[in-house]
Amino acid sequence: MAKTQSNLPASYWELQKKQKSISAFLFILLFVFYLAAFGLLLAVILLGTQVFLPGSNPFSSPHFYLYAAGIISIAAAVTVINFLQAKKTGTSYILSNLRAYPPDPGDRYHLSFINVADEMKISSGLPRLKTYIIPSVNVNSLSLLDRDNIPAIAVTEGLLAEASRDELQAVVAHEVAHITKGDTFLFTLICSLTAFYEKLKDSLEKEPEYQQGPQLSRSSHRSTSAPLAYVASSISFLLIKFLTMLVSQNRELLADATAVELSRDPAALSRIIYKAWVANSYLGDTSILMPLFLVPPDSKEIADSSWSRLFNTHPPVEKRLGLLAAMIHRSVEEIKNEVRHQEKLREESRRVIKASTEGDSPEKEKAILNLKEQAENELHKTEVWEIRQAKGQWAGPYTLGALISLPAFSPAVRVRNLKENREGQAREFPQIRFALYRQVKNQPVDPASVNRCPVCQAPLQKSFYEGVQTKTCPVCSGRLVSMEDIEKILARQEYDFSPQLKEKASLYQEALLDPGKRNTTFPQKKLKPCPSCGLQLAVKPFNYYYVFPVYKCYKCRVIWFEPDELEILQLLFKGRDE
Ligand SMILES: [Zn+2]
Ligand SMILES: [Zn+2]
Repeated sequence: MAKTQSNLPASYWELQKKQKSISAFLFILLFVFYLAAFGLLLAVILLGTQVFLPGSNPFSSPHFYLYAAGIISIAAAVTVINFLQAKKTGTSYILSNLRAYPPDPGDRYHLSFINVADEMKISSGLPRLKTYIIPSVNVNSLSLLDRDNIPAIAVTEGLLAEASRDELQAVVAHEVAHITKGDTFLFTLICSLTAFYEKLKDSLEKEPEYQQGPQLSRSSHRSTSAPLAYVASSISFLLIKFLTMLVSQNRELLADATAVELSRDPAALSRIIYKAWVANSYLGDTSILMPLFLVPPDSKEIADSSWSRLFNTHPPVEKRLGLLAAMIHRSVEEIKNEVRHQEKLREESRRVIKASTEGDSPEKEKAILNLKEQAENELHKTEVWEIRQAKGQWAGPYTLGALISLPAFSPAVRVRNLKENREGQAREFPQIRFALYRQVKNQPVDPASVNRCPVCQAPLQKSFYEGVQTKTCPVCSGRLVSMEDIEKILARQEYDFSPQLKEKASLYQEALLDPGKRNTTFPQKKLKPCPSCGLQLAVKPFNYYYVFPVYKCYKCRVIWFEPDELEILQLLFKGRDE
């Protein structure tokens, strides 16, 4: 292919030259924005004084040049401050706003993203390329310039779960195209400039940490800073609209075209754009980050009218799909059918997971029974602590970890050890002294119960579920999951579920809607020790939306799901928009 025809830049130096001219261009735009804003403000003030002091005409007075000079210097100063601030902290703000973090090579989905990005880096001639994961189940991607000026691509967990390998390649190619064309630099700078005001707004709206009292103190605080926050958010809104309006929407179409040059697969790119469009692409309150995304976070609303063409950062999806489909002489409808067909195949190939109450093969049942017996013995060995209560009666038995996490526990309280048949003050027992010492040192309080099922004490086994490393109990099939991995599990749908599990999930759904049914549907939970640190697990609702209780350890950032709970959560989540 002739080199002159290519959309790729000839060299990295060319890219840097491009960045300099983009910087200058944006600086001038920003200056014009502030000049107009301050000019208007002054005109309003002067008109106001004219009303109060009739006879004086400020516009024709010799002071006019003075006003003009004043405005120009104020606008210049604000432009410089805004610009420097954006360069310094813009990217950090964007990344923390998206909760983005580097991919984990131990995770199969993340690894394939790392590999695809590596391949694309080499074929595009970029010297360096970073990768980030956005922990969201929605489908989207973006590119930005990292703090150290190295280009980076971020994708959501939802995109990794939905995209086939060729589609992931197409997405990465699209983002690499933005990087090589300088769009990434431009958009990162635009978003960073606006982030200045978003940060200002956030800091004005945020309540001080110590004010955790009732609503009363809140509203009084809010009333003082609300107008300022409003001003900051209006400026941010105007600025992003002003800057993106001047940046052509054709950039998206050009990036699509360059991506096809890189990945040579227009069909894959159109499929994933369509998937992102159909799936929820919403990513929290990220309106200022809009121009960065593969499809804008509210893509479903974009229509092809002259008004939307003026104000939207992305061309309508149908137009993009049409152009891509035309490259392979196909219609948009054919692309959509392909996606539907793919989804159907995926649905049919899913392994079905059964409820814990459904039977297994006889050999497996026997093995589980064996493990259960061993675990019960273990439980008798560790649940040996009792504590004396105020009225003199004994409570327990507890494991060591559970004992020292009791609210009534103190080193002076009277306890007894059933195994040793000994009674005394807690501090007299060396086991307890060691446990308290380990607790201070942030070590597991009871080495004997580490990595054991909180409910049946069987040793936990490492296992993979939806490509995520978890620990499972071979006896009760409960599961320990890191809180950070929940989005991955919800986004990835590698399994189907048995009718019995679906039935159970629908009972949960009813109870979520009808609080009267909760007590009978959601199982009651006793206090149990955390398999990682040995302290007591908290029994808390999964979240505000799915309020059924689960075991959580906030210190170890893990959730213990009892049998079927995780699967029910997945089913409820999958059914949320059906
Ligand atoms: Zn268990
Ligand atoms: Zn813990």
